[in-house]
Amino acid sequence: MPDRITLPDGMSDPRRHGSEITSSVSIPSDEDGFFGRECPEQDCLAYFKLHGDEYHLAKQTGLLSCPSCGIRANHETFMTPEQVQRSNAAMRELAQATAHQLLRDAFKGFKSRPGSGVSLTFKPGPPHRPRPLPTYVERETVRTFTCPAGGHRAVIYDRLVACPYCGPDTPPRAVLDDNLAVLPHLLGSLEHLPAKDKAEVKALGGEPAIAERTLTGAVAAIQSSAKDLHAGIGKPVTVWNPWQSPTRLAQQWQASFGADPFAGLTPEEHNVVALASPAGTSSSTMAARPMSGIWRSQATPWLWAGRSATGRRSSGTSSMPSPSWPTSSSPE
Ligand SMILES: [Zn+2]
Ligand SMILES: [Zn+2]
Repeated sequence: MPDRITLPDGMSDPRRHGSEITSSVSIPSDEDGFFGRECPEQDCLAYFKLHGDEYHLAKQTGLLSCPSCGIRANHETFMTPEQVQRSNAAMRELAQATAHQLLRDAFKGFKSRPGSGVSLTFKPGPPHRPRPLPTYVERETVRTFTCPAGGHRAVIYDRLVACPYCGPDTPPRAVLDDNLAVLPHLLGSLEHLPAKDKAEVKALGGEPAIAERTLTGAVAAIQSSAKDLHAGIGKPVTVWNPWQSPTRLAQQWQASFGADPFAGLTPEEHNVVALASPAGTSSSTMAARPMSGIWRSQATPWLWAGRSATGRRSSGTSSMPSPSWPTSSSPE
């Protein structure tokens, strides 16, 4: 083991494993113990934060889900650009320090023999002086989702699709509740804008856009919840897909359980469900609103994104060094 390898603060003492010398680099977290993650999916790249005390769960399975798009991938591919930068700097430091020390060790006690015709001189310089690793501050926490299945915490900055740890097994009801809780805040946020900005957002269709976006989440969660409940009670898998329309969902529920799934809703809640119905297909229990095809056109793709992605999206970034995995340098 070469001695006196000095590494910057934030890196562990180097260790030798066979022909490799390894060290690990710490990942800074905020004052509450949360550190950043970034979705590796290029169309998403959502930023979120997870707690250091719970992250061993991701290491155990090797997987993490994006809370915004649901993609499930190798947890090591969720590094933020700042973490990649810090990790790469740590890798360089380890390589340079190791190379420097190996050279010093190799020439220790070396003397060129007189008369051999070749004269070699090696003057070891001062030991490698480590350069400090780049550091950064994580984004401020706005809201924290707590998963009812295990109490996993995630600081999120977008509509919730899945718990980062539970992924496709996130209780659908938790997603539904979170989406419904966010809707009034989202719409209310417009009210705090200066009058001129508010008028501009409204003129650009911002209000229905915000409502639609959040409603899409609620609708997807209803579908997922109904489907899981139906299967969980042991009802046979339906040959056709009744879960993509509230009308057909209600029909299926009547056939399977002899009950109206929307019977317990208030008139306002009926309206919310109806908003998501494809035009012209409302049932007697739902008021027709010719607004959108959210239920059919938008909800489905990302509802299933988390499930269909399982195990198949671990992307090409696996060579990226991991934050808490050993960084290694082979002296060959
Ligand atoms: Zn994502
Ligand atoms: Zn969870």
